[in-house]
Amino acid sequence: MKNQMQAEAAGTAIAGHGLDWPHLFATRAERMKASEIRELLKLLDQPDVMSFAGGIPDPALFPVAAFGTALTAALSGDSKGAALQYSVSDGYRPLRDWLVTRMASLGVPCTTDNIMITSGSQQALDYLGKLFLSKDDTALVGWPTYLGALQAFNAYEPNYDRLTPLGNRSAADYSHTAETKGGKVKFAYASADFANPTGETLPRSARENILDLAHELDIAVIEDAAYQSLRYDGDEVPPMLALDIARTGSIEATRTVYCGSFSKTLAPGLRVGWVCAAKPVISKLVLMKQAGDLHSATLNQMAIHTVASDGFEAQMAKIRQTYRARRDAMLAALAKHMPDGVSWTRPDGGMYIWLTLPEGFDGAALLAQSLKTERVAFVPGRAFFADGSGANTLRLSFSCASEATIEEGIKRLGRVVRGG
Ligand code: PMP
Repeated sequence: MKNQMQAEAAGTAIAGHGLDWPHLFATRAERMKASEIRELLKLLDQPDVMSFAGGIPDPALFPVAAFGTALTAALSGDSKGAALQYSVSDGYRPLRDWLVTRMASLGVPCTTDNIMITSGSQQALDYLGKLFLSKDDTALVGWPTYLGALQAFNAYEPNYDRLTPLGNRSAADYSHTAETKGGKVKFAYASADFANPTGETLPRSARENILDLAHELDIAVIEDAAYQSLRYDGDEVPPMLALDIARTGSIEATRTVYCGSFSKTLAPGLRVGWVCAAKPVISKLVLMKQAGDLHSATLNQMAIHTVASDGFEAQMAKIRQTYRARRDAMLAALAKHMPDGVSWTRPDGGMYIWLTLPEGFDGAALLAQSLKTERVAFVPGRAFFADGSGANTLRLSFSCASEATIEEGIKRLGRVVRGG
């Protein structure tokens, strides 16, 4: 008994009480932590909570019948066995061919060899972290940026510096900062269209600035295009990869790695995304994929290919109409119910609106209060900042709520903010 108490006090383990694991873990595991927000968000399962927290598509919009037909077809006829068999690491060739046409329509002429299929674009972010970041290297990211990108990159023990697309910091300044931290700047990561969490789109000039900076620093650009197809207003802006090709003449001469996804358009549960980049990058990523998971699920890639080839644009028209109305409802409700001093973004697409509250507000405390008194959920903004700043910000998602829920939920949130 005494031994047991001593062992517990010292944080070590004895038989029957589990091993003392942390000292066995690699240093990279230290930066993998569950966030307090995730704990709070567990409460969302309760049916009376109005949630603007989840960054997920509305399942009512999934093309379920089309997938039913596509899956049945993949499992019958000539390709019966193939759909359940191992397949190549770079991905199902007909899907990669379809993506060549899709990328060309976005101003990105490329070949099938410039495309690798990934298990969601999240896997691409992990592999790109693995490919580019040695410990103490620097990744340039937005302030705020996609939390999942920080989580993917964190495993490779980088430092972060703030990417300012308005071009007000010099390349020399960035590299000096990175060197003082013991590494080099390796890439700039940005979501150019309807970013998570802000919903903002980078104007063409900002995309050009990022490419200029990347050129001066001789680094890669990671373009996260997860939301690119979800445009509700305004003209399309060419992807950074297209602008890079316009400068350099060919995808092989570019430094931009484009990460696409079918998650927000067709079905996130099938975990199908893609990377489009110069061949040397794709070749390395294919080797990582071989080591990582061999390949993405063959059946899923076949089904995505069938559904995308038969009706991608029709599916997009349906989604855009629904999400546009929800975005409009949320913007109208915010204008009606938020007190002075609160500002928010007006996104042309995507799923998110980003709120900035007056200084002194704490998003996490506000969430706890909001869940208690008004049963409304959102994501406090701090988690999206690499330096843990941004306490007075929060992310609202309009993708899964009806217009009536949005009006009522934002009215309640307005009350919480006034009370805070
Ligand atoms: N990038 C961004 C900006 C995202 O918001 C997400 C999902 N929330 C992803 C990448 C990953 O999505 P997936 O792996 O489903 O393609």
